[in-house]
Amino acid sequence: MRINNQKSYQNTNSINFSAGMTQKIALQIQNTDTFKISNDLAKKGIDSDFKGNKTVAWCSNKVVEIFEQINNLFGEKIKLPKGIYVEDFGKLNIQSKGTVLGLCNFFPAKLYKNSDKILNGNVVLFNTFETEMKNSSQNLKQYFNWDNINEISDIDYYYFGIAATPHFLNTFIHEFAHAAHENNISDKIGGKNLLKLFEKALSDKSIQKFQNKNEKLLSKEICKYAAKSPFEAIACDIPQKVVKSLDEDLSLTSNPFENTIYSINKIKTPEKSATDSQKRNSDTSVLQVCKPCVSSPSNTALGSFAHVPYRETSSDKILEKIWNGKL
Ligand SMILES: [Zn+2]
Repeated sequence: MRINNQKSYQNTNSINFSAGMTQKIALQIQNTDTFKISNDLAKKGIDSDFKGNKTVAWCSNKVVEIFEQINNLFGEKIKLPKGIYVEDFGKLNIQSKGTVLGLCNFFPAKLYKNSDKILNGNVVLFNTFETEMKNSSQNLKQYFNWDNINEISDIDYYYFGIAATPHFLNTFIHEFAHAAHENNISDKIGGKNLLKLFEKALSDKSIQKFQNKNEKLLSKEICKYAAKSPFEAIACDIPQKVVKSLDEDLSLTSNPFENTIYSINKIKTPEKSATDSQKRNSDTSVLQVCKPCVSSPSNTALGSFAHVPYRETSSDKILEKIWNGKL
């Protein structure tokens, strides 16, 4: 997930939406002890180094909790990454520009410029924007500051259309979704075959073919960025589903993956409905998107969760193939 072309930001001052961030959450982030979060994650087998970034630590930990709950409460088997790190992306050997918010690295790689250090696989990284900040004009610096994640998420969704939700957790769920997806394929076909699949699916020719075939549909039903590659399609779709099942306190109100391609208990009961982007066009209120589909449960017992009807969209068939590595 990335934030976009710097010049375009100058016209975004009028954007004033809220993207799920409440004062209560903002206060929790302010009071975050990043070392405590790292210790808690270590007990779950997740290595981390947040470099003191409270927003990234709090949000990453929240997404870990959400994914764990989806598995524990609803019996899903969504895998988590093995590491969460904060790095200056300007110091990495990556094709993307330094404006990228996060990335998922699934195979061990020499990712650091001028260094033989090998970064572990199955990890997610978030940008410090250190290099980007040095090269940015004063009025752009606010867009490379994680304290402003709520506003950055709004801009990505409303202004650039490169995120499927305006929720401030979108970027985090997106990167975790990459890890879950790649783990899902790796478990099915093995790591070596996944690597071959990557090379094949991400070649210029394959990407062009994928975009020619799916760009219109994925842009309409998910977001523009979903049409970038098969892997981005999944990483953009999962946040859309997860966010719909969160209440104001980010507690789950239902299983976001119930009757979807991501559920191990997938049962299709198609129901014709307006697509999310159609709904978005008819009502631009952020609450329309972020508000949970059902009311909050009175307790956390499984039986208290309401069921969200399955709405099959045209992109589901494509996404199902991609999720299972049949590209
Ligand atoms: Zn991505």
